[in-house]
Amino acid sequence: MDRKALLELTGKYQSPLYVYDTEKIISQYKKITGAFSKVKNLKINYAAKALSNINILKVFNSLKSGLDTVSIQEVKLGLKAGFAPENIIYTPNGVSLQEIEDVAKLGIQINIDNLSILELFGQKHPKVPVCIRINPHIMAGGNSKISVGHIDSKFGISIHQVPHIKRVVENTGMRINGVHMHTGSDILDIDTFLRASEILFNTAKEFDNIDFIDFGSGFKVPYKEGDISTNIEELGKKLSQRFNNFCKEYGKDVTLMFEPGKFLVSEAGYFLAKVNVIKQTTSTVFAGIDSGLNHLIRPMFYNSYHHIENISNPKGRERFYSIVGYICESDTFGSNRRINEISEGDILCFHNAGAYCYSMASNYNSRYRPAEVMIYKGKDYLIRKRETFEDILKNQVEVSV
Ligand SMILES: *Cc1c(COP(=O)(O)O)cnc(C)c1O
Repeated sequence: MDRKALLELTGKYQSPLYVYDTEKIISQYKKITGAFSKVKNLKINYAAKALSNINILKVFNSLKSGLDTVSIQEVKLGLKAGFAPENIIYTPNGVSLQEIEDVAKLGIQINIDNLSILELFGQKHPKVPVCIRINPHIMAGGNSKISVGHIDSKFGISIHQVPHIKRVVENTGMRINGVHMHTGSDILDIDTFLRASEILFNTAKEFDNIDFIDFGSGFKVPYKEGDISTNIEELGKKLSQRFNNFCKEYGKDVTLMFEPGKFLVSEAGYFLAKVNVIKQTTSTVFAGIDSGLNHLIRPMFYNSYHHIENISNPKGRERFYSIVGYICESDTFGSNRRINEISEGDILCFHNAGAYCYSMASNYNSRYRPAEVMIYKGKDYLIRKRETFEDILKNQVEVSV
């Protein structure tokens, strides 16, 4: 999206503001499906938690994408957005048996990630096929908070416990219809990923009526110039070939699934905020914006880098700034950034603001969460209103004190 259009949107909808470019979402979706075009049955399930506005979900449904969900609320949002139950997969962690049963009743594919619940669920509902989430104990990902496949991770059933899974299946008469892994964000090394995939293929062979193999996600996108991203074409080529061979060995055209979040929506998002104050200190120049970690927590939470530019003064001379928020905690979005000269009132644009940005926003400091705008077929649509004071008080119950 060009700067001028983004600047106009902040004029129209005020700041802070999230803007999503659906054309980019669609092109990312097509990039994955294109890379795996040699696979007969391919299913991409968008991971709703990355960006869960119902309109974004509708866009994915219109692309014939499936939906990957982690809570019953996400399932309900997906159904409301128009997804057929059979196009939704539910991959929770640490939720109650009750919630899993409630989701299963809605006709959603269940993915179970622990033996205890597997056994309980299988005893009560032997006719409902379930997918199992395997932890292959392969380390992937650049950040300990988002690496979920390692030995100490709380996710998945250990690959070493497959004999136990089989015993549960035998004892309950339940059917395992899919195997799944999600080793965490940031797959850079295709060969590591393929090694983990071999573990999944071997696990699939342990069960005689598999319908799909779900390889999770972890596709990396560039956040700054020079960043390496997952080579999706190479992954597509290598994994498709291996997958097609597996189908031959297995004697069935099973479905290959992925569930990307970040890859599909990260680059489509822009976060726009206004500079409230410029503060010169002895060590730096701070630009303080009308937002904070309540609206975009990734830099503080994960040390994530978000490229920041001054779209109000794109030709201005470059100077060094620390971009900070207005929250009463340290909330630094970027230190020592080279940015076109900033004046109070300028609009700064944060890139890669599609994934895990709005969906992690909060009301900390009793601030309103921002508005969201979607660009769809060349037109801008307000898809979430800015909150108001009523929203802050909405569920608070006043008592006499
Ligand atoms: C979060 C999550 C994803 C999406 O991960 P990205 O890195 O955003 O692609 C996929 N599957 C599961 C089970 C997840 O929890």
